[in-house]
Amino acid sequence: MSDQAPASPSTTPRQWPAHDPQTRRWLPERSRPVDPDRVEALLAREWQRFTDATPESGEHNARASNSLPLGVTSSFQHWEPYPISIASARGAWLTDVDGRRLLDLSMGFGAMLVGHLNPVVVERVRTALEEVGTLFVTPSPTATEIAERYQERFHLDLLRFTQSGTESLMYAIRAARAFTERKAIVKIEGGYHGGYDALQVSVKPALADIGPAEAPIPEVPFDVEAGTVHVVPYNDLSYLQRILAEHGREIAAVVMEPVIENLAIVVPDAGYLAGVRAACDAHGVLLVFDEVKTGLTAGYAGASQRLGVRPDLVTLAKSIGGGLPLACFGGRAEVMQVVVDGRMAHFGTYNGNPLVMAAARAVDEVCTHDALAAAEDINVATLDAIDAVITEFELPAHTVGMGVKGCITWSTTPVRNYRDYKATDFRLAELSWLWGVNRHILTPPGLDEQWLVSLAHTQADMDVLVADVRELATALRA
Ligand code: PLP
Repeated sequence: MSDQAPASPSTTPRQWPAHDPQTRRWLPERSRPVDPDRVEALLAREWQRFTDATPESGEHNARASNSLPLGVTSSFQHWEPYPISIASARGAWLTDVDGRRLLDLSMGFGAMLVGHLNPVVVERVRTALEEVGTLFVTPSPTATEIAERYQERFHLDLLRFTQSGTESLMYAIRAARAFTERKAIVKIEGGYHGGYDALQVSVKPALADIGPAEAPIPEVPFDVEAGTVHVVPYNDLSYLQRILAEHGREIAAVVMEPVIENLAIVVPDAGYLAGVRAACDAHGVLLVFDEVKTGLTAGYAGASQRLGVRPDLVTLAKSIGGGLPLACFGGRAEVMQVVVDGRMAHFGTYNGNPLVMAAARAVDEVCTHDALAAAEDINVATLDAIDAVITEFELPAHTVGMGVKGCITWSTTPVRNYRDYKATDFRLAELSWLWGVNRHILTPPGLDEQWLVSLAHTQADMDVLVADVRELATALRA
């Protein structure tokens, strides 16, 4: 693995800070630019191919748009001219409304870590439906058992269940405010954390709106009441230290994904997260790790454990629920005491309902060290094989991986923060995504996502992706 590479064969190698050794980033020794005209020509051809192959999806989107804005149930699902509509899924494969089978590499943005219709999840949910019940709104051993399992697995002193990542982040921030008696928060420039108002600031903002890299200006959408939010670049410890030194007395929490998985994959520099932890401690500011996307996909006990930095609060969702709406927030007993003594009220009719708890139990059982390690081995082999293609065709790209997730980033230099991410080649990213879609491989619709090797994917499945990348590389160099 190399982290030093020339931008082109003629430039001198540059050095970048080492990345955390628990994460993976590989840069090619040599690369050559791709002809932009060729990229545009291929994009035009592939978009035509897309609409030719997916008439039923087009018709479905037209119908759905009469009842659902954009014809989708979450704006992330939309793309122009229309997204593919899925009729059913099993294991690692989807069937779309045109009757095509697609290899699912999105896996519900990571929520389907155990695979679609995982037999253990199905069995336990069926038992809950037939023998237990779906909702009591009372305490129940079904929820207590999962809380105890999460205490042990994720090293949380106390936790509460919610339905979504958004809700967990909202409560984590409220808990931090109640505990510190401070209101402001710090978030990472470009980071996405769901729909809570305070976290809408500088979510993938236009560069024209956010000032210079050395002094980022928060971008606040008109429709949100964000409160005071400081925005800091990821992997820039000294900037964070400065903000905390100037405003620490008003700041309740620093909120971040330990590994950013909403800008493809952006990994922490070695020592960065430990530095963030120390800076927060120096100012009595809480550290909240948003593990909605990392969670079990980053390792058996999530990214925090794997990277060896303990936050005060963690939010978990997606991968823990086996596809059912499960999320939670929790952490240090002293902080969660705010729920115990009523400094922060936490409610929710469906919290910890037995149906979702049945799925949680199945996921906890199925996601053993061995099962996750096997999926990660497949991911590493896939990344290695794609690295070989990048090397062979001298593509201006590199790969990044974390746990069972991986991505190709269309840049010859590492992406260490949002501004680096904005400098990557989005036309090539679009082509590479569309190329896959047209060859029955579905990665998430944004160009800032990654693939997931679920427990249902085999090496043969992932070899389909490698072959697809090779075919794209051949077309780019033809
Ligand atoms: N945090 C992160 C890092 C996310 O990626 C997301 C959703 O993609 C959320 C929070 C919000 O989670 P949900 O969609 O469950 O509300």
